[in-house]
Amino acid sequence: MRVIPVACLKDNYAYLLAGDGGDAIVIDPSEAPPVQAALQREQLSLRAIWVTHHHFDHVGGIEDLCAALGAMPVLGSQYDLEQRRVPRQTRGLREGDALELFGQPVSILEIPGHTLGAIAYIVAGCAFSGDTLFVAGCGRVFEGTMAMMQASLAKLRALPADTALYCGHEYTVANLRFAAAIEPESSAVQERAQWAAALHERGEPSVPSKLADELRCNPFLRWDADAVIAAARARGAADSTPASVFGALRSAKDTF
Ligand code: ZN
Ligand code: FE
Repeated sequence: MRVIPVACLKDNYAYLLAGDGGDAIVIDPSEAPPVQAALQREQLSLRAIWVTHHHFDHVGGIEDLCAALGAMPVLGSQYDLEQRRVPRQTRGLREGDALELFGQPVSILEIPGHTLGAIAYIVAGCAFSGDTLFVAGCGRVFEGTMAMMQASLAKLRALPADTALYCGHEYTVANLRFAAAIEPESSAVQERAQWAAALHERGEPSVPSKLADELRCNPFLRWDADAVIAAARARGAADSTPASVFGALRSAKDTF
């Protein structure tokens, strides 16, 4: 299986997942034209659309893709299906549902917090995390609670360390500025910031990121690191529990 990132809108990623036979699916098509251009360039036929959550910058291309290429399966969470907030959605997914793509098992994680219907797709050692886990950061908590979001990030953190993370936005350079403010002594964060700046200068994506690197550098996965706990306490965390530490960091990032 090949993963082809497709830059969309200002800083979004859609992803084409391609099998050997020329078939592909797309995750989070925020707009159709760049997805169609990538399909053409790679000589792929689109067979299905998968979405991580209902926000417009993840589903905005569904209508145009179906109009141009014909109706096809549109997968999203069961919650979003019940809310009828993903265009043309045909199937609602729950955690534990068995799915297959190009002969490989796909697992679904329910990761509420950014939205209540957010899910991640795990396939072939890759995690598609939408706006829940970003490279060096995480999404804003719009619909859920801080505790809910922290529990969702804990699910992603528990994946194998060599998992390749593909997220919904290219926010990496800015995320690492915040990471450096939280852990100014961390050489891992400083090296990672240099890596991200070099990619940014060349106009290259920072996805995929290895989960192992996120564990070292992403403050939103480091609620049990002493330096992060101290930084969170200094920013108003009431105690050192993961939810409080995470919540204080997330609130601080909202106004950073
Ligand atoms: Zn979103
Ligand atoms: Fe988004």
